[in-house]
Amino acid sequence: MREFERAGFTDVALVQIGDQGQEEFLQVAEKELLPALVDLMRWGDAHLAPDGPPAVLRHGGCGGELGRGAVCDRCGAPAQADEVEWYRGPGTHKTPGERMIPA
Ligand SMILES: [Zn+2]
Repeated sequence: MREFERAGFTDVALVQIGDQGQEEFLQVAEKELLPALVDLMRWGDAHLAPDGPPAVLRHGGCGGELGRGAVCDRCGAPAQADEVEWYRGPGTHKTPGERMIPA
């Protein structure tokens, strides 16, 4: 979030909606942007990661991997932002399979 703010991305939106709408704005942004962000990651994995993806996104509680549109390859449900678990992938220079962000 701070990176977005430094880039000026949210400053305009937050000014327009005010402090009371900030939390709602962030929830809507997470929900609506997650599929696009996962698609961008998957594109980079396919074209720019010769050793495999540096990060793998899994559906929390299910363990399936998230594919296009943040859809789980195990249960078929689109993941919500608070259900995404990040793990190091085979293309990382650190320990593959290790969870990146603690629960
Ligand atoms: Zn799932």
